[in-house]
Amino acid sequence: MISMKCKIALNKSRLYGLDYTINPYYGCSHACIYCYVPSLIGITYDEFRVAKPKENIVDVLRKEIRKKKTGIVGISTATDAYQPLERKYGLTRRILKLLQKYRFPIDIQTKSTLVLRDVDIIKEFDYASVGITITTLSEEIARKWEPFSPLPFYRLETASKLVEHGIHAYIFFGPVFPLMKREEVKYTMEEFINAGIKEVVIDKLHIKKGLEGNIKRAFPEQWKKIIKKDGFNEILDEIRKFEGKIEIKMAWE
Ligand code: SF4
Repeated sequence: MISMKCKIALNKSRLYGLDYTINPYYGCSHACIYCYVPSLIGITYDEFRVAKPKENIVDVLRKEIRKKKTGIVGISTATDAYQPLERKYGLTRRILKLLQKYRFPIDIQTKSTLVLRDVDIIKEFDYASVGITITTLSEEIARKWEPFSPLPFYRLETASKLVEHGIHAYIFFGPVFPLMKREEVKYTMEEFINAGIKEVVIDKLHIKKGLEGNIKRAFPEQWKKIIKKDGFNEILDEIRKFEGKIEIKMAWE
């Protein structure tokens, strides 16, 4: 396995609600076909999906953290901190221990059930929030849309277990699969509520460089409609009907 070294562990964030970001891995083997991180960091999708651990990130963080002003740390803003490599390297778990020790609040985003391994540490934080990403509950779609991530059923179960542990867990419902029908949206929102989720953050598909080809290969019949996001306003209307039953936030607002 090829690894790499980083110079900075905690990066200043320009994302709303986050003071810092930390990404223990470079790249992501979940290889979601809509992932636009490769275009943001200037590498190809194929390069990005071969993830590498940042082997020195825990040491770098240990040196940095005493000098940094406390602030909310977004974990997994450009990777998934709980992708399969984490089972072997455990970087995320060691990072969490340091952040907790120095009392930095955290916001984790993941598609992986592996986050449940770290419930013991997450519960110790003064403030911790965990966003579980679900873009559709259809296994058929998910297998093409997010081919190497845990299936949505397991993600919803993970979110529900986090709630049972008393952890603030929300669903990051994005990018919502653009061709969802109203009934599917309704069912999906109901399932979130039945799982005990109190907050959902909605995001739409962002088409960046290189993504069109991925979508065309995975959905040869429907790719044009997906890219045009036909029907997204109807999806939003359906989601908004659930206002009052679950807190709804838009990722772009
Ligand atoms: S899990 Fe996130 S970072 Fe990883 S490929 Fe999917 S969208 Fe990109």
